Amino acid sequence: MKRRNFFKKAGLFGLGTTIINPFDLFAQGEQKELFLSNTPKNIIFMVSDGMSIGTLNMADMQLQRTTGKGSNWLNLYRENKVSRALMDMASASSLVTDSAAASSSWGGGHRVKNGRLNVGSNGEAYTPIWQKFKKVGKKAGCVTTVPITHATPAGFMINSESRKSMDQIAEKYLENKFDVLMGGGHDNFAPDLRKDGKDMYAAYKSEGYEVVQNRKKMLKAKTDKPLLGVFHRGGLAYTLDQKNDKELEKNIPTLAEMTTKAIENMQDNPEGFVLQVEAGKVDWAAHANCSGGIIYDQIAFDEALKVALDFADKDQETLVIITTDHGNSNPGLLYGKEANEMFDRVQGFKHTNEWVLNGIDANQSINQILERIEYANGFTISRNQAFELLGYYNGLEKQNDGLYNYKHLPYKLLADIQKEYTHIGWIGDNHSADYVELAMYGAGSHDLPAFMRNTELHHYMLRVAGLE
Ligand SMILES: [Zn+2]
Repeated sequence: MKRRNFFKKAGLFGLGTTIINPFDLFAQGEQKELFLSNTPKNIIFMVSDGMSIGTLNMADMQLQRTTGKGSNWLNLYRENKVSRALMDMASASSLVTDSAAASSSWGGGHRVKNGRLNVGSNGEAYTPIWQKFKKVGKKAGCVTTVPITHATPAGFMINSESRKSMDQIAEKYLENKFDVLMGGGHDNFAPDLRKDGKDMYAAYKSEGYEVVQNRKKMLKAKTDKPLLGVFHRGGLAYTLDQKNDKELEKNIPTLAEMTTKAIENMQDNPEGFVLQVEAGKVDWAAHANCSGGIIYDQIAFDEALKVALDFADKDQETLVIITTDHGNSNPGLLYGKEANEMFDRVQGFKHTNEWVLNGIDANQSINQILERIEYANGFTISRNQAFELLGYYNGLEKQNDGLYNYKHLPYKLLADIQKEYTHIGWIGDNHSADYVELAMYGAGSHDLPAFMRNTELHHYMLRVAGLE
């Protein structure tokens, strides 16, 4: 703890004749930082989408085994620097939420049906929280690794009957003049890909936005204008694929880089700013039962978290909220012979299962499949396993479909095969109803109860910021 801050803070507690002994504040933990203010001027909302506890745990274990230090998120726990709770994320229609209803619960303060964005059962429109903060003069933005028009950012910014109306969502952001918008989603901005042929890039430019479409331009973007950054058609590439592909690495910024730029862009606003940072591809990797995808994207989230924490330390008036919107497929390292060594194999992964499976077709030989998996994962599966995989491409069986597997790739089969070599197992391929981790760091984090209903977080943010 910094003594300087301690005394600034202690001064706030000398009220009238009752002097609260500032040392009482350490009752919960010696290490807990004290911040200048209990009323944050800025809020950074960090959400790793679809992050089961096993995801957080495996990313932390991998970091411990490779760097000797754990993740930034769990180090906050180890050092007792955060307030921490569990949160119930149920939606109006189900115990198991989707990202639209989850984000709406925080964004609009109401549980809505899955698939909706801040629109109730009778069409009620609940004002999204980033609009509320804009109204009192704060800057507001979102950055993500999936389309910026996707459910989690949208739930903080707009109302929509359906999360699928992503073309319209791109227009609604502009109507509200949000200050920083970055992620994927080219399909919802480009005139040749939108159904209505509108050029949303031109529309943003004419409203004074700086529009950037690659990493280099993003890094150079000036901070005196609102910023739109769109770096890929759908979601951005998985971190693991990006690390092993020079072209992707050159063109697509990391979540940490987008977070840094977003803060730079908004930090000088006299009334402060609010920023949501979403690791959306953690959810997609979970739907795909992809160990490499999920661990490296969770680590990328953790690097973005470091950016937020460092800013909060320096700034002293920022609340950092760290959470997920639901579990997904609940991966975990399972007991067995040489589990440690098996788990360490993920360190040698070069590509995700999406990359592996997109490169296989029905005309390939068993040897080609063996080589591809050996290249991507560093181990050799059996010929029988390769034969089974090839069966899917010959149309023998159809894998589950859905939002995250439109190409019907045999994700589940590959994950089952990999389990023999990594000991990582999954309970399914969709969201779970598990209560989620919620941690808070910085100004205004003191008041977090140990258990929270999702909608309460909406009011918590408004209350500590002095809006409610
Ligand atoms: Zn999902």
